[in-house]
Amino acid sequence: MTDPTPAFPRGTILGYPRIGRRRELKRAVESHWKGAIDEAALEQTAADLRRATRERLAELGLGRDDSSIPESFSYYDQVLDAAAAVGALPERFAGLREADGTVGLAAYFTAARGEGENAPLEMTKWFDTNYHYLVPEIGPETSFALSSDRFARQVAEAKADGFTVRPVVVGPVTLLALAKATDASPDGFDPLRRLDDLLPVYAELLASLRAVGAEWVQLDEPALVSESLPASADALAAAAERAYAMLGGSADRPAILVTAGYAQLSTEAWTVLAAAPVEALAIDLTRGAVPAPAAGLDGKVLVGGVIDGRNIWRGDLAGAWATLEDLGRLGAAQISAGTSTSLQHVPHDVADESALDPRLVSWLAFADQKTAQVVTLARGLSEGADAIAGEVAEASAALADRRSAPGVRDGAVRERAAALTQADFSRVDYAARVAAQQEALGLPVLPTTTIGSFPQTGDIRRARARHGKGEITTEEYEQFLRDEIARVVTLQEDLGLDVLVHGEAERNDMVQYFAENLDGFEVTQNGWVQSYGSRATRPSILWGDVSRPAPITVAWSAFAQSLTEKPMKGMLTGPVTILAWSFVRDDQPLADTANQVALALRDEIADLEAAGIGVIQVDEPALRELLPLKRNDQPSYLEWSVGSFRLATAGAAESTQVHTHLCYSEFDVVIDAIAALDADVTSIEAARSRGEVIGDIAASGFTHGVGPGVYDIHSPRVPSVAEVADLLDRAATELPLRQVWVNPDCGLKTRGYDETVASLRNIIEATRSIRDKV
Ligand code: GLN
Ligand code: ZN
Repeated sequence: MTDPTPAFPRGTILGYPRIGRRRELKRAVESHWKGAIDEAALEQTAADLRRATRERLAELGLGRDDSSIPESFSYYDQVLDAAAAVGALPERFAGLREADGTVGLAAYFTAARGEGENAPLEMTKWFDTNYHYLVPEIGPETSFALSSDRFARQVAEAKADGFTVRPVVVGPVTLLALAKATDASPDGFDPLRRLDDLLPVYAELLASLRAVGAEWVQLDEPALVSESLPASADALAAAAERAYAMLGGSADRPAILVTAGYAQLSTEAWTVLAAAPVEALAIDLTRGAVPAPAAGLDGKVLVGGVIDGRNIWRGDLAGAWATLEDLGRLGAAQISAGTSTSLQHVPHDVADESALDPRLVSWLAFADQKTAQVVTLARGLSEGADAIAGEVAEASAALADRRSAPGVRDGAVRERAAALTQADFSRVDYAARVAAQQEALGLPVLPTTTIGSFPQTGDIRRARARHGKGEITTEEYEQFLRDEIARVVTLQEDLGLDVLVHGEAERNDMVQYFAENLDGFEVTQNGWVQSYGSRATRPSILWGDVSRPAPITVAWSAFAQSLTEKPMKGMLTGPVTILAWSFVRDDQPLADTANQVALALRDEIADLEAAGIGVIQVDEPALRELLPLKRNDQPSYLEWSVGSFRLATAGAAESTQVHTHLCYSEFDVVIDAIAALDADVTSIEAARSRGEVIGDIAASGFTHGVGPGVYDIHSPRVPSVAEVADLLDRAATELPLRQVWVNPDCGLKTRGYDETVASLRNIIEATRSIRDKV
């Protein structure tokens, strides 16, 4: 490394949203996929966006030439970026590489999205967030080589504009710890075993960044905080020790900042990193405490992650300042202020929200406001506490105002929650329910259904937008929706599905729709955050006590049921998911907030039943994602999350079939919790992992209905009849037939009609072929 170590700024953010204030990147990437713009045009839009981001961050007070601006752009996903840079893409995408073997945009996007028979990389949740990364596939045969100069090009691009930025790369330990073994690997192969082969390529990558003028590089190692990965904390710490001894020892590199956000760094990893030959460490102090002093810190910069990278509440500057002062006792060479994680989990700018109540706005901070808070703390660190006393007092006053504002506490809601007893959380025995439901519904073996939404076409989005702008009347809009529902019902009857859905055309989003119809929530206009790839969601803000002023879904479901003799499934979003995909108040336990939402849903279920709906699905795709990363925190989480689902559903009659839907296939730790939900039928994701999960379910002794997804709706690929029949065969051999349901992995809203109809037709044909065999 260059001697002496370049100075590190007194404040920085660990990453910034990359989708653009108006989702410019989404639009550009999607038009490129459609063939409407070529690579050069896409690269131009991305470069403009990066330029705008740097300028904005400089305007907010981060330095142009002191490495305080992170270069954290990604076209799709930061894990894929790192995998592509080191050439770790599976063999099946080899043909898409550039002539010189490097990974260009074609191979990159195909790995993300799949093509023809080539399935994409699996996708899963990034730690306990609602961001999804692509799971690298790494085996003994994977060959690592520097395969993309994208990181270096971005540093050079910034340099040309007068910026010295700090490139952000997923670190080698995290890259391997999040990877899965390739199909070609021997059983039980652990990708971490390839660390020694990977490190020289990282060293080369660092050298290439240094060569274009990067003074600092940020290597993100959040795997070191997790207790939810296959590798143990000891194994991860040992890997970090080797990795940073090697990278730190390489001569030709920028100074290294290692970050470990999302929770408290394990003691093992903290000890190792403190002693490692790297120049700076960043730790999460919003979800972790100040660690014990450790040897080696005296030469390092310590970045205290005191501004929460994941919520949208204005940070408590007084508290943050006290935490930074407390860090002083660790003996680091310098303390800097930072965000706890990248800001990729929050929207761009509160100033873009003109429709929000100014009082609520004064309690909020999106990425730009959080950056400004970091800049304030940095100024305090260099100029002294007095220099920022005004800003600190303002933040404290906003917090105090929030505590006492009307709507934050609602007496009726609190009384009802206080009066709950154990009985409110339980239904009658499953056996009794199965009999009552079979009699009421009369379903065939291997009943077929979908997860709820049908494609959200341009027509639907346009009608919603026109209604929003007042260009069509509510009456016209509702007629449009009824026509849409009728079309979807006819389609399902023609296809021969057994349990129908109304298609959710009236919903902009499965959480926001409920948020708009419940008290205690606010919705944003531009508060988008990336969920995966080009997809973004707009989380609502849950700021006060929650209640249901009027029925929400009942009229639509009742109308849909009136069109068919087949059972119509009512469709609700569960309390945990509503919390997980909203920005939730942080002034009371999540459990209390979840129960408030559950009670509102419980009333909705009673109203659906009264309107003749006999099957009701309460989606909880986020149950797994909120699971705390630390094992000690998991039991209490599972208790309240499962409890809130049960509270929402336990009022249902025994003949009412309660479904739930979970969007992932990693059951390991939550399998008991899923059983404890006590839903009559649970649909889960299984297609991308080719049904691996079915064995886990069978082994767990799960006795209720289960629908392992047979159609990967994250990809435009149509599954063949044979492929679906294979998955069903597997399910039907491993599980009692009466337990098995047939359904796609998830809702169909992001798909087009052609592929959806073709896929559903194949699913039904495959189901019939299996039914004929049994
Ligand atoms: N019912 C929802 C839908 O079909 C479920 C979506 C989800 O699980 N993410 O769209
Ligand atoms: Zn789903």
